[in-house]
Parts: sequence; structure tokens; C-alpha cells
Amino acid sequence: MVADRAFALDRHLFEPTDSACEARIAAIEPDAYVRTRNHLHGQVTRLSPYLTHGFVSVPDVVTRLRQRHPLPMQHKLVYEFGWREYFQHLWSRLGDQIFTDLRPPPGRDYRSTVPDDLRQGATGIPVIDQSVRTLYATGYLHNHARMWLASYAVHLRKVHWRAGADWMYGHLLDGDLASNHLSWQWVAGTLTGKPYVFDSANVARYAPEWASPHSAIDRSYDELLALAQGETDLGPDSDNAPKVAEPALLAAPPEQLGDASAELNDETLHLVHPWSLARTSERRVGIIELDFHARHPWSARRWTFVGERMAALCDQLLVGTQQELGLRLRGRELKARATHNPSYRELFAIASVQTSEEPRLLDNPGRACASFSQFWKRTTSVDTATSTNRD
Ligand SMILES: Cc1cc2nc3c(=O)[nH]c(=O)nc-3n(C[C@H](O)[C@H](O)[C@H](O)COP(=O)(O)OP(=O)(O)OC[C@H]3O[C@@H](n4cnc5c(N)ncnc54)[C@H](O)[C@@H]3O)c2cc1C
Repeated sequence: MVADRAFALDRHLFEPTDSACEARIAAIEPDAYVRTRNHLHGQVTRLSPYLTHGFVSVPDVVTRLRQRHPLPMQHKLVYEFGWREYFQHLWSRLGDQIFTDLRPPPGRDYRSTVPDDLRQGATGIPVIDQSVRTLYATGYLHNHARMWLASYAVHLRKVHWRAGADWMYGHLLDGDLASNHLSWQWVAGTLTGKPYVFDSANVARYAPEWASPHSAIDRSYDELLALAQGETDLGPDSDNAPKVAEPALLAAPPEQLGDASAELNDETLHLVHPWSLARTSERRVGIIELDFHARHPWSARRWTFVGERMAALCDQLLVGTQQELGLRLRGRELKARATHNPSYRELFAIASVQTSEEPRLLDNPGRACASFSQFWKRTTSVDTATSTNRD
């Protein structure tokens, strides 16, 4: 049984401001990161909401860190930034293919929805139920907790990774279609061909407060792998575990941020979208494209994070469908940061927006790299033979 224990993180952990982002960068201790990053309370950066929404870029962060610490390319933190860039690379090269199985899954029958007991954090397995509660309460989860939650959902409950990824994406402040959906594929085994399974000893080591002995995950690795390759949905461990209400996922901002009919003040416009929220000195117009959110709704928490930042950066905000925004923007001189997000890319094409690429630390090879180690080797010349384990 899971009691409603204190959440692993403060509920107000992420403020959508430069000072909060700066404080995160200033607090990074690369050596401590290496030693502790796998632990639930380890010294990870928690920069992901700021990186996803473009407050700051990976090369900016690395440059700033190098002013304080030696940070060679083979440093574990640079390597983790590399995973973000690898997933963006795959998205740019594979497009919508990243939303389909990139390799055959280990099992055959998967559900197309996330079962209620899992959504309600009521499986009766402490590590799973606490992860769901933390996700809902903070919009953030430690990497290990994401891996455990995804692995349990896909391999022991037979949820198709795509259904799990869509669900988690909506609740994360850092939800990024490439990092999220490709990480779910990584866990499912459809990215690399090897499913990720974990056992209760792994949880006891890295998250002792969420230890889950005598539960569905208290099995040998071979048993867990056989379950991953089989068809059985183990069902919840308990039928009367306490439930948590899932926050609503919203296809539009909960408060009126702006509309697509507003008069535009200037002929030349610098557009800001939810993935390009860096501060600049130019006057800017924010855009929110609603067709995208009809397919990928967000929690109110994430809308607030993005909405407050856009309000702070922009003179005007336009919120509308692709067609409405296209009509409003057409015929002007428009500039924006590029994104791989397909809806925004289409809008930029319709409105002839001139885009500049997001700064990258590593190159973006012309053809999709089949594995992270291939990508890393090709872009850094550093061999990863000894460090291919994400865990
Ligand atoms: C199932 C699942 C879903 C995920 N969904 C997302 C997502 O929607 N958005 C997202 O940014 N990350 C996602 N990740 C990757 C990773 O969990 C988060 O980037 C990380 O936990 C964010 O916390 P942090 O900033 O403290 O990370 P740190 O450990 O401090 O890492 C620093 C930065 O490196 C990048 N990074 C680190 N690890 C990874 C990784 N494995 N994959 C990609 N980038 C990485 C992130 O930009 C992160 O902010 C997911 C992982 C899994 C297993």
C-alpha cells in the first residue's frame, strides 16, 4: 500500500524566469553530477524545462560551465546533453517516423490506452504510484523514475509505448516529443532492439524511499525479460490502493492569453513560439498554434509555465489554429527560431517565416545515425564503447 508520503520534489520547483534558469546553471557541480546522478535525490541539473522551452541552449550551458569547471567532451554531463541532441537529430532526420515503432516490439499485443489504476497512481507498487504522484504534483520526474514508470507500463502492463508517451508528455514541464517519445521507444526496445527492464533491487538502491519489495517487480531479470516478451498484463498489485486525481490535459491555454485577430503593430515581426523562449532585446510577438495542442494537450501547470514566460517576453500574443495564424501572419517579414515541431514548421512554411536553427553542441549528421554511440562517435570522435548504458 502506498501512503501519500511527501513528494520527492517541491511543487514550485520551476519558475519561468531567467533568474530561476540562471540559478540552476550556477548550482551545477559536474563532479557531484557524475557521482550521484542515478539517485532520485542526486545532484542532477533539473534544467530540462528550460532547455525544452529554449530559455537557454545546450551550447550556452556548456560554455558557461566551462568558465568554472574543466568539462571535457567525455564528461558524463556532456554525454547526457548529447542524448538530447541525438534525439533532436533523429527527429530532424526521421520526422513523423519517430511516432511509430522503429523496430519490432518484443511482445505482440499492447493496449492503446493507459489503464485507470496506473493513471490514478493506484497500482499498489510504491515506486510506480509515487512516480505518478510526483509527475502530477511537479511536472518533473527524475530520469530513473521515468524509466521505471515507462518500463512497468510497457512490459508488465502491456501499454503500447506510444500511449504511455502521449500521457507522460502532457504532464511534463519539459515534455519534448523527440526526447520523450524516443525514450519510451528506448525503454520498449523498439529503438535499440533491447527492452529495458528493472527490478526491485534497482529501486532499493537508487530510490530507497520508494522501495517496492514483494511487488510485481520483485523478480529475477530473466523473469522480467520473459514477461516483456510475453502477452500477459499483470494487472495492478492491489485493487484498493489510494487514488490520485489525474490533472486535466488542456488543448488550449486555460486563460485567454491572446487571439488570432489582434492587430499587429509592426511590419517586421520576430515570432516567439513555445520552444524559443530565450530573452532578446527585440520586440516580439508570441504565437500558440492550437492544432498542435488538439493532438498534444498540456497540463495547466505547463500552460502557466509557458504562458507567463511568453507574456514576459512578448508585446502581443496570437493564439489560433494554423489557418487563423497563417492568415494573420502572411505578407509580413517574419523571423523565428526553427523547430522540428511539425505543426509549427508547416505554419512557418505557410507564412514564409525566415528561420534560424537552434544552436547545437554537436553536429547534425545528414543521415539518421542508427545508434547513440554511432552518433556520438561521428560528432565527437570520442569512442563510447565503455559508456553505452543510460542507466
Ligand atoms: C520515459 C522517458 C521520457 C523522457 N521524456 C523527456 C522529455 O519529454 N523531455 C526531456 O527533456 N527529457 C526526457 N527524458 C530524458 C531525461 O529523463 C530528462 O531529460 C531528464 O530527466 C531531465 O532532468 P535533468 O534536467 O535534471 O537532467 P540531467 O541529468 O541534469 O541532464 C541534463 C540535460 O541533459 C539532457 N538529458 C539528460 N538525460 C537525457 C536523456 N536520457 N535523454 C534526452 N536528454 C537527456 C536533458 O536536456 C537534461 O536537462 C525522458 C526519459 C525517459 C526515460
